[in-house]
Amino acid sequence: MSTLTYRYRLKDATSGTHLRQRAGAINDVWNYCNAVSLLALRRAKTFLTAYALHKLTAGTSKDLRLSADTMQQVCTEYVTRRTPCKKSKLKWRSRTRSLGWIPCKAAYIRLHGDTVTYCGHRFRLWLSRPIAGVVKTGSFSQDAQGRWDVNVQCEGADAAEPVGTLDLGMDLGLTYQLTCSDGVQYARANLTRKHAAALAMAQRAHKKQRVKAMYARIAHVRQDGAHQVMTAIARRAKLIVIGDVSSTKLAKTSLTTSTYDASWGIVRHQLHYKAIRLAGVCVDGNEKFSTVTGSDCGARSGPSGLGGLEVRKWCCAVCGVSHERDVNAARNILRTGRGTPIKGIPVL
Ligand SMILES: [Zn+2]
Repeated sequence: MSTLTYRYRLKDATSGTHLRQRAGAINDVWNYCNAVSLLALRRAKTFLTAYALHKLTAGTSKDLRLSADTMQQVCTEYVTRRTPCKKSKLKWRSRTRSLGWIPCKAAYIRLHGDTVTYCGHRFRLWLSRPIAGVVKTGSFSQDAQGRWDVNVQCEGADAAEPVGTLDLGMDLGLTYQLTCSDGVQYARANLTRKHAAALAMAQRAHKKQRVKAMYARIAHVRQDGAHQVMTAIARRAKLIVIGDVSSTKLAKTSLTTSTYDASWGIVRHQLHYKAIRLAGVCVDGNEKFSTVTGSDCGARSGPSGLGGLEVRKWCCAVCGVSHERDVNAARNILRTGRGTPIKGIPVL
């Protein structure tokens, strides 16, 4: 069983007012948790638990017009966020600084066709795809443009047998977003460059809403493109090995926009969960020496260093086999992920 979150945009323009009021009440609960936790830390030198916060906020849900489980979830989420960072307090929530968020359990939201009912209020939604699986939990969330979505987390059945038959290694790149070990390459759209002139014009004219809409459009196209490509890959493969390259350092160089357009984080996340749903396996492989190592003989005779970046094709000096740079790297990554040597070459 795997969990999948469906997100639907709410239709009604008027529903925003209703949800904003609830989100405001949630901000109050959050800020109360923040304040009382800080007080407990200063006076008693102790971090309040979620259970303690539940008890402190009990009985206020009716006045705040929230369901009791929403109050509990806000307290639990507060503790979950605070625990790993070990700070005395988190950021205060406010209507201007924080996007609206209303968590709720499955028992408190009812879905009928293209409507969702929460706390006695009915919201209409764009049912872009049917919900498959058992609804476990849900939430309402606001985006930067002030629009509201309902998110429904469902537990669905996975495929019993692997849908794909191939073992595929994946090399993440900038020119080509993905190169598979079987030679298939997936290019990416140059979205940021495409919209750069229009974005700059909107920014110079201080058109905040226009800028937000354009960024939302870029993010949406990026996400949609990734969904289509990753689904196609997950359908072909029973084993996917993806390179463990990190975009954090690269995003700080002059290649920032290309790095964001390549969206390696989205690629990795989607491949992992799509593989599980289709009864496949997705693991991380070691990128180290994947470019310089020949995938046939294992000799490290490939192009290396800054000077070798432009070399797209090369011939192995040891065995004489011609290699396409990215495909060769993908094959080496597949080898490390499988954990089995090819032609007697030990795993890197
Ligand atoms: Zn070779």
